[in-house]
Amino acid sequence: MNILDVENLNLGFNCENGFNQALWDVSFSLEKGKMLALVGESGCGKSVSAMSILQLLPKTAKITSGIINFEGENLLSKSSKNMQKIRGSKIALIPQDPMTSLNPLFTVGEQLLEVIRIHQNLKGKEAWEKAVKAFEAVQIPCAEKRLKSYPHEFSGGMKQRAIIAMALACEAEILIADEPTTALDVTIQAQIMNLLEQIKNERNTAILLITHDLALVREHADNIAVMYAGKIVESAPAKEFFEHPNHPYSIALLNSLPANRDKSLETITGQPPSIQQRIQGCKFHPRCKDCMEICTQEVPPEYKVSENHISACFLNDGFNRKSD
Ligand code: SF4
Repeated sequence: MNILDVENLNLGFNCENGFNQALWDVSFSLEKGKMLALVGESGCGKSVSAMSILQLLPKTAKITSGIINFEGENLLSKSSKNMQKIRGSKIALIPQDPMTSLNPLFTVGEQLLEVIRIHQNLKGKEAWEKAVKAFEAVQIPCAEKRLKSYPHEFSGGMKQRAIIAMALACEAEILIADEPTTALDVTIQAQIMNLLEQIKNERNTAILLITHDLALVREHADNIAVMYAGKIVESAPAKEFFEHPNHPYSIALLNSLPANRDKSLETITGQPPSIQQRIQGCKFHPRCKDCMEICTQEVPPEYKVSENHISACFLNDGFNRKSD
């Protein structure tokens, strides 16, 4: 069951050279109890898509069209006051750097209690018990003692667990995790991913995981959406995606993973375009080894290559189009 639907989101930035479009008809859905991994290189638009949901965009950004449906309402038509209520209590953000969310001057417990007071309207013993339970749920040992610690007394992994505890204490229905493990050691990365998966399964929470790391999501994501230059180029259930990737960009990403290097190490030549660059046709064509003439002239439509598997590549001409 879908809890959130992003439909045909178009967004751009007002820059010195004028308005530059950064998202092109981005559509994806989050299901309760499932993890969607939005994957792509840095600057492809995955974080901007996530921040659009929370309405935490820079002033220069402008959404030109689209709908973000949550609980039957379009979040894009909500006032900033209403969005403030939704952020944290219903949809919570787990940032790349937990220190952006933790104030070094207050104990982690004080900050967690404040969040519980605002979003759950609890005080005193009740709030404290909720905070302890949240710390226990994210497997922070000696929860009561650690609540009295300051952020600098926590390791990177523990800080990230504390942020996740805040989302749990508020009973958020959606977690948006923006590169949540990038700043952590590999072993801690695995622990945080396991924790997110446990939360998803036990609490039926929907998780949107933003990442550049396909290897990280192989074991954990239920669905994958690959972004390139502001557009979703392929989306599929994770098992289908890893067994039968379709889009040349996805295939190149997968072939560059260490686990696949016994085949032959593939690198993707060139760089992704900046939002100022105007590329006619398929935006991946300057880097695509399968590029055909049509790719340089026309934007590929989305083809339905199998049930729930969409790929925007002319190599699929002959399959039904998603819009058919
Ligand atoms: Fe490559 Fe053409 Fe497919 Fe784009 S549409 S990914 S250029 S083959």
